[in-house]
Amino acid sequence: MDAREFVKNISWLGHAAFLVKYEGMNVYFDPYQIARGEPADVIFVSHDHYDHCSPEDIERIRKSDTVIVTNESSAKKLKGEIRVVKAGDEIEVRGLKVKAVPAYNPNKRFHPKQYGGLGFIVDFGGVKVYHAGDTDLIPEMEGIEADIALLPVSGTYVMTAEEAAKAAEIIKPKVAIPMHYGAIVGTANDAERFKRLAPVEVVILKKT
Ligand code: ZN
Ligand code: ZN
Repeated sequence: MDAREFVKNISWLGHAAFLVKYEGMNVYFDPYQIARGEPADVIFVSHDHYDHCSPEDIERIRKSDTVIVTNESSAKKLKGEIRVVKAGDEIEVRGLKVKAVPAYNPNKRFHPKQYGGLGFIVDFGGVKVYHAGDTDLIPEMEGIEADIALLPVSGTYVMTAEEAAKAAEIIKPKVAIPMHYGAIVGTANDAERFKRLAPVEVVILKKT
């Protein structure tokens, strides 16, 4: 499927939370204060900060056979079938090829590299979706291949809109979607600024 077409399967649930519908499955990323509650088949959790790793949200959408993919520190806070991964790992979950990639701040204290935060590249039948997690612009982005990139734009703990636009320039996805604004830090202005600056197609999703 075409990447632009695939964007229709992606819902932004606010902050860094997304729901991707694919072949009858509900695949979540970082569910946090979500309004929707479709049962999850797979849940990706990028790191253990409360706005990304929310046991309450996860318990609301988790079924007995939901698979959670996350790092070691988040796994300690969660229940259920958990696949612990670290950056560089490639696994297959429910027929989805998944690559865990690093997410960190080179020059801020919030997410040091050794903290082990993650981003995920998930291959939905040939459309690769990259959820960047909480990250700055990092050299590892040179190696990221993605058709759709979900990039944080709020600044403070993660990339600013300007830095995210540079990340989009490096990664060259067909579509970039801004995230990590509108809840704790960052506003719709950051998303708009990202859209103006990024040299790729940007789709700003409405929160659902
Ligand atoms: Zn964080
Ligand atoms: Zn965050």
